Parts: sequence; C-alpha cells; structure tokens
Amino acid sequence: MSGLCDTTLIREQPASPAASLTDDEWLLRGMLRCLACQRPMIPARWVDQDGTRVYSCGPACPQRDLVAAEIEDHLFLGALIRDAMVATRCSDADPPVSPDELDRWRATDAYNRRAVLETAFAWVEITATGQARPEWQHDLRQPSVAAQTPR
Ligand SMILES: [Zn+2]
Repeated sequence: MSGLCDTTLIREQPASPAASLTDDEWLLRGMLRCLACQRPMIPARWVDQDGTRVYSCGPACPQRDLVAAEIEDHLFLGALIRDAMVATRCSDADPPVSPDELDRWRATDAYNRRAVLETAFAWVEITATGQARPEWQHDLRQPSVAAQTPR
C-alpha cells in the first residue's frame, strides 16, 4: 500500500482550478491586433456593468471594446468550417487543403477551442470600424495562393 508521500499521488493532483479558469477564459488572448492604434487588444471587463468580458485597446484608442463572446463565437465558427472542409477534403476549399494543413488539423484537439483558433488563425486584425480580418494559417503557409488580394 502506498503512503501519503508517494510521488505518483502528488503528481496526479489537479492544478489549481482558479488559475486555469482565468487563464483560459479569453480565447483570443494575444491574437487580436487593432489597426487603429497598431497594438494588441487586451482582455478586460466592463466593471460598471455586469462584468462583461471584452477585448480593449484602452481609452487612448478610438476603437470600441469588442464583446469577447461575440468575436470568439464568430471566429470559432469560421475555424470550424475550415476544419470541416479539411476533414472532408472539400473540393471547394479555397485555398485547397495542403497535406501540411491536413496534418495540423488532425493534430488539433477539437474540444480545445483555443487550440482550434490557433490552428486556424495566425492573428486577427480589427479594423477601425471593429471588423475582424483574420490572417489564416493556411494563407501564411501558402504564399503563392495568398497573392495579397484586397479584402
Ligand atoms: Zn486600438
């Protein structure tokens, strides 16, 4: 019978739930770039209301705060659609699915929303009017296809 000092038991103890919850809550942490001020938008909360999670530039920038749940859902849906195209070898995929991209999606834990977003997007530019312009990983890795078309 193992004693209380058994190292295996100690290792199996879960990490602090409080720490992991707060770390994971902002799924787009570090991925949003504001085009108005050229700085990353940082996680924040509206303290004078109900604690709504937002991404914000702060008062020095005219950019409106983005409600986190809305921008996260919007981008996550886009990522899932690309994932589905890759998984089904969809012939309409634009750009076409490369073996490299197929490998990356296969290695992604589909239940980890942050991992799905990172597989889909290198970063996301936020225009001065609050529109999201994602930089897709598959565009970055296929420069011949991503021939800089205006959006
Ligand atoms: Zn800004």
